[in-house]
Amino acid sequence: MSEDKLQEAIGRLKHASVRITPQRHAVLDFLINAKSHPTADDIYKALEGKFPNMSVATVYNNLRVFREIGLVRELTYGDASSRFDYNTSKHYHVICESCGKIVDFDYPSLDEVESLAEKVTGFEVSHHRMEIYGTCPDCKTTH
Ligand SMILES: [Zn+2]
Ligand SMILES: [Zn+2]
Repeated sequence: MSEDKLQEAIGRLKHASVRITPQRHAVLDFLINAKSHPTADDIYKALEGKFPNMSVATVYNNLRVFREIGLVRELTYGDASSRFDYNTSKHYHVICESCGKIVDFDYPSLDEVESLAEKVTGFEVSHHRMEIYGTCPDCKTTH
């Protein structure tokens, strides 16, 4: 199943005339299989053994390319480093306050909140973020 996703992603890169280098392929493969919303640094650490010449900046540049063509979503959390999410379909996140783990969950998009915000404030709303915080099962058992 993730093999299909990888092929589909490669198709989209080709369509956008993005060259598929071995590193780019590896970053994409890692992202598709990671359920953890990794940072650029996580990806770099996971792949540096395979690509000794690769730098964090290379990883970051690849992620930026993926983001620009809509393959990944960048989640920024204040000054903490950005996390990257391959699943670009609409979903919400629950975040562990103890270890920082981010887990996806599906819930119907709260479009009515957006329309209410538009109506009340006169803003043209582009999107919203909603995050749930708590303690993950792993952290709950070790504390
Ligand atoms: Zn946790
Ligand atoms: Zn996610």
